[in-house]
Amino acid sequence: MAQVDAIIIGGGIVGLSTGLALLAARPGRSVVVLEKEALLAAHQTGRNSGVIHAGLYYKPGSVKARTCARGRTLMEGFCERHGVPFERCGKVIVATRADEVPRLEELERRGRANGLTGIRRIDRDELREREPHAAAVASLFVSETGIVDYREVTRAMAREFARLGGELRTSARATAIGRRGATVVVSSTAGDVEARVLVGCAGLGSDRVARMAGLEPGVAIVPFRGEYWMLSPQRAHLVKNLIYPVPDPAFPFLGVHFTRRIGGGVEAGPNAVLALAREGYARTSFVARDALEIARWPGFWRMARRHWRAGMAEQWRSLSRSAFARACAALVPELTEGDVTPGGAGVRAQAVARDGALVDDFAVVEAERMVHVVNAPSPAATASLAIGEEIAQRALRWL
Ligand SMILES: Cc1cc2nc3c(=O)[nH]c(=O)nc-3n(C[C@H](O)[C@H](O)[C@H](O)COP(=O)(O)OP(=O)(O)OC[C@H]3O[C@@H](n4cnc5c(N)ncnc54)[C@H](O)[C@@H]3O)c2cc1C
Repeated sequence: MAQVDAIIIGGGIVGLSTGLALLAARPGRSVVVLEKEALLAAHQTGRNSGVIHAGLYYKPGSVKARTCARGRTLMEGFCERHGVPFERCGKVIVATRADEVPRLEELERRGRANGLTGIRRIDRDELREREPHAAAVASLFVSETGIVDYREVTRAMAREFARLGGELRTSARATAIGRRGATVVVSSTAGDVEARVLVGCAGLGSDRVARMAGLEPGVAIVPFRGEYWMLSPQRAHLVKNLIYPVPDPAFPFLGVHFTRRIGGGVEAGPNAVLALAREGYARTSFVARDALEIARWPGFWRMARRHWRAGMAEQWRSLSRSAFARACAALVPELTEGDVTPGGAGVRAQAVARDGALVDDFAVVEAERMVHVVNAPSPAATASLAIGEEIAQRALRWL
């Protein structure tokens, strides 16, 4: 059996960032990442909006606020050093109704409290210059927001991890976790590994990995699919960069928005519909074990009772192209149903507590020689390098 210093389950952007931080802090130590897929970034990391978030939405003082701010700077630096293209293009947030204006003002206050200096209200003329086709009664501009392809970031991280001596095993699914004396033993489809410390960064499987290790994380991952639509090439000029609505503070999702992709094209979305398969990217995806686990989690029913109205509206927008197009037209009125075609989809790993609360902040559970990330939703791609540093600090206690 291989004996190493640290083993990380999950080769997404959070797992690889943690691996990089461990090797930066303790050069020469042996660190293995186990990834069940043959390819990297197969799940959340490779199926997201590609936004480097500025960090204005998050509660000041939260882990999200702290790590997003630091992570953004680290991410831009990483991309510069490793030749990964990114653009700091800024974004506008538009209030389309008068009753959204107080929430827009609150966002501006939060942004400032979170240290953003490039955030300001813009008037009609400036909005017309930045996003000539957007509708708004009031709008905010945030200059710090950027775009990148996180799959490319992940590939660069994997190269750097290997250069520093890390070992990345793909097609290696962790299947059991046990203890032997002062070590942790992880069995996987690519062999067993004994380590002095285990870090779980398994995204959509993070609660299962924590339970496999004998911990009770107190949350279950409830998967929410986010479906994208593409603007047709003839209509892509209607969006210059990023246009976002004022989000509903009751939800951790940002609402349907427009994003220019770094590789070209403009996406609309994602919505947020309950997925009956953790890695279910199609509307028809269904995995009995996943659906049963959702149904058995008491927090799911409590959450459903609280949010059924919003859930039904999301479901309807998922099924009806015209309903989705109407949501788009609230931000860009010239858009019609014929201007959008179905695009890709991602599934968010959203932790839901036993009391039905959608866990808002990043969350970690720990035990002797183990650190498990159990909630790393957006902006965890932006924040990944900062999250990795903090997780590595906790894991280093055991090295
Ligand atoms: C639709 C959508 C849009 C988003 N937009 C943005 C955005 O614009 N900006 C931003 O910052 N964030 C965004 N996010 C959030 C961001 O993508 C995620 O927070 C981030 O990718 C989480 O990374 P991760 O490494 O934790 O998870 P993942 O990328 O899901 O990686 C976890 C890995 O663990 C592996 N794994 C699971 N179980 C096992 C096992 N038993 N053994 C071995 N391997 C295992 C999986 O195969 C997977 O590769 C978005 C997310 C979604 C879904």
